[in-house]
Amino acid sequence: MPGRMKVLVSACLCGRNCRYDAAHKKDDAVLDALAGCLLLPVCPEVLAGLPVPRIPCQLSGGDGEAVWKDLARVLRQDGRDLTETFKIGARLAFEASVGITLAVLKERSPSCASKRVWIDGRLESGTGLLAVLLRARGIPVFNEEQAAKGLLFPEGNY
Ligand code: SF4
Repeated sequence: MPGRMKVLVSACLCGRNCRYDAAHKKDDAVLDALAGCLLLPVCPEVLAGLPVPRIPCQLSGGDGEAVWKDLARVLRQDGRDLTETFKIGARLAFEASVGITLAVLKERSPSCASKRVWIDGRLESGTGLLAVLLRARGIPVFNEEQAAKGLLFPEGNY
């Protein structure tokens, strides 16, 4: 039983209209799985000061881990390099995550992905920028599919 465990959640999964297209991705299965937890909804891209709606961005040359090593970039659809802006958003979200036990983040996003992410037009194995920072601090990061399958709270894990 998770009790009042503090959990960082991608704000779009909580119903906030923070996506590039000003829509949300509210996921009732995720919210049900986290019932009883203290949710911390965060959108790294909005924290970085990006507008809603906004031109979508994608990783180029590698995943979030490669971005932090300066081996890949975050490019806007029109070609503008927004790597530093995305780094700021991920750092701010990371700073806001003090005290969390785990995170549930939206898959495929350059900021939030934890397993699969768009890189140069292809869905690849890899993470977004925020998931890298959280895992480096030892925080378990899940996506919405794992949450919906009830994989967040195996007996005795937290
Ligand atoms: S940055 Fe994360 S929280 Fe914000 S819209 Fe994209 S997936 Fe959702």
